[in-house]
Amino acid sequence: MFNLSRYFSTVSFILIVLAAGVLGPFYRELSLKQITELAESRNVAMAQVFENSLREPLESLMSASVGRDNDFLRSSPEAADLKTRVASLMSNTSVVRVKIYNRLGNTVFSSDPGEIGDTQLDRLRFSTAISGGVASYMTHRSAIDTFEGSRTEVDLLASYIPIRGPDKAIEGAFELYQDVTPFMNQLERSLWLVTAGVFGVFAALYLMQYLVVRRAQRILREQEARIAAARDTLEIQVEARTDELKRTNTQLELEISERRQAESKLNYLAYHDPLTGLANRRCFIERLEGSLLESGRRGERLAVLFIDLDQFKQVNDSLGHGVGDELLVMVAARLADYVRLIDMLARLGGDEFICLMEAVRDEDEVETVAREIISAFDTPFGLDDNELYLSASVGISLFPADGDSVVDLMRNADTAMYSAKALGRGRFHFYTPEMTHEAQQRIRMENQLRRALDNDELAVKLQPQVDTRDGRLVGAEALVRWYSPELGTVMPSQFIPLAEDSGIIIGLGNWVLRETCRQVMQWRNSGFELPMVSVNLSVKQLERPEFFDTLQDILDETGMDAESLKLELTESVVMGVGDACGLLQRLRDLGISLALDDFGTGYSSLNYLKMLPVQQLKIDRSFVMGIGRNPGDEAIIRTVMELAKSLGFEVVAEGVETVEQAEFLGKLGCQQLQGFLHGKALTPDEFRARWSEAE
Ligand code: C2E
Ligand code: MG
Ligand code: MG
Repeated sequence: MFNLSRYFSTVSFILIVLAAGVLGPFYRELSLKQITELAESRNVAMAQVFENSLREPLESLMSASVGRDNDFLRSSPEAADLKTRVASLMSNTSVVRVKIYNRLGNTVFSSDPGEIGDTQLDRLRFSTAISGGVASYMTHRSAIDTFEGSRTEVDLLASYIPIRGPDKAIEGAFELYQDVTPFMNQLERSLWLVTAGVFGVFAALYLMQYLVVRRAQRILREQEARIAAARDTLEIQVEARTDELKRTNTQLELEISERRQAESKLNYLAYHDPLTGLANRRCFIERLEGSLLESGRRGERLAVLFIDLDQFKQVNDSLGHGVGDELLVMVAARLADYVRLIDMLARLGGDEFICLMEAVRDEDEVETVAREIISAFDTPFGLDDNELYLSASVGISLFPADGDSVVDLMRNADTAMYSAKALGRGRFHFYTPEMTHEAQQRIRMENQLRRALDNDELAVKLQPQVDTRDGRLVGAEALVRWYSPELGTVMPSQFIPLAEDSGIIIGLGNWVLRETCRQVMQWRNSGFELPMVSVNLSVKQLERPEFFDTLQDILDETGMDAESLKLELTESVVMGVGDACGLLQRLRDLGISLALDDFGTGYSSLNYLKMLPVQQLKIDRSFVMGIGRNPGDEAIIRTVMELAKSLGFEVVAEGVETVEQAEFLGKLGCQQLQGFLHGKALTPDEFRARWSEAE
């Protein structure tokens, strides 16, 4: 660290030494010059005295000495006289030696007689004097003889001073030696004093300054320490703040990344179906909107394929939602494999999927994809150990032919899908404007059906069921008919699904049940005994909590005995009821018989079937149709028969139209037959007329 005191001491010391070293000699030189000037002026004054006083004796000596040698100048009476005069003049003065030169530089007089006659050696100073100036010099002698005795260690100032005659002409020169020893001693003394004074002053100054500097240094040190402490504190604070910032930063980064993740998750959820991972409705709609704009600009065509799984509700209901979800995931994966890579596949919800095909060349291309989608269901879906067959119906709308908006295209594809379903399962159908007409008709029909009950437009027909062995009437199935003033005769296949969808089936079904019971009881009371009557029951009815009360009311009202009543429930529909077993058991407990309708088309597992309190299986018409034509159908019928035998079910075959079919079924042990072979559904009057006769 920089030491101010030490620096100051060193520099000050050097400066003091330098100052003293310079000031001392300077002072000495100055004093010497003053002494010289003083002594010289005294010499000049003395010379004037000498000149005035010695003029006469000097002139007489000079005139007497003309032509004589030097001895004359030394020892002549004139010389002695001069000497005496000089000696008296010199006494009590500081002049210790006098020499007189003539113009030629010869020493004509000297207080030291030995020098008389010498020629002047110091030519330079002598010349100055001869020219009218005064020249002096300082000299030191270790010993000198004077008139007043000899002196030792003397400092002398020697001056050459011109001697002027009365006419002021220079006649020679004096050389005066003045003893300046006291001055010199004085000088030495004052020099010492000055030096000591200078040193003293400097030392005092130095000391004062040193104290000031030391104090300054202490203050500086303290401030430095304070600054260092402040710096340390600052550093600590900065470090702490940096740490804090770092922490905040990492926290911020963490928060940002968490938020980003959440956002992307939200974004993902907003645009994807969480179950299958496919795009969702919103995503599809946005993409379709964009595609419509693009396709419109480029003049390209696109297709919307509405895909709906057939009877998936039943599968879902019978096997549980867990299995249903599993199946949907498998379906989604399979569909994704069958659509083109560029196509967009989305799940609209439930069992509805939708596919967008862009840049479509022609209908054939769309048809190919539709066929592929349908064929995707040719292979069964594996569920644990079981295999399950599904099918899908596809409705197609095209842009721009079938609409130029998202709403139109999706609605029309949906309409086309319904048409495909109406054709049977596993079909596709392109949209036609007539379909919209059909859809509108459906709505109109629904409204009309609502009124049909009140307007007495419904009627029950009865189709006989006979003993396979002898053709005896064993029962009849009640089949509803609708005679609409606007639509004419409407078959159940047209309005039952509509009634199911709209909930009309509840009132309608109950009406059929009541009407049938009433009819059977009316017959019975009038002497026509129908051993057993079957009524179709919608699962929608069964699910209603008040159903059992209604049923009991009907039985009570009509007086119908439960033992003569059989309720037909579609196999797949039974599987869809939450507690089918319990509900069916309650019916059984009332004494009502139960039949599983359309058997073979559903998904009943053997285990489940065993548990159901059902007495009868009704082999579906589609299998009966295959007798003699389709070995597969025959095989199914055989299996059903064996199954029924082993589980103790009675079997009725539906849709028996030929003797061949009847014989085939009879051979296999099918107990009852129902079909056109033995009679179509007839009005109660027709039925009674036909069958009371036979009895
Ligand atoms: P389902 O219960 O399987 O009734 C048998 C259907 O097959 C009847 O059609 C019947 O007329 C028809 N059928 C019987 N034998 C033959 C035949 O040899 N050849 C042909 N081609 N068809 C035959 P329908 O009357 O049109 O009824 C259709 C379906 O509507 C019924 O099938 C049943 O599921 C439903 N349905 C009818 N009436 C009611 C009702 O009152 N309530 C409920 N919930 N459903 C009903
Ligand atoms: Mg039936
Ligand atoms: Mg049937």
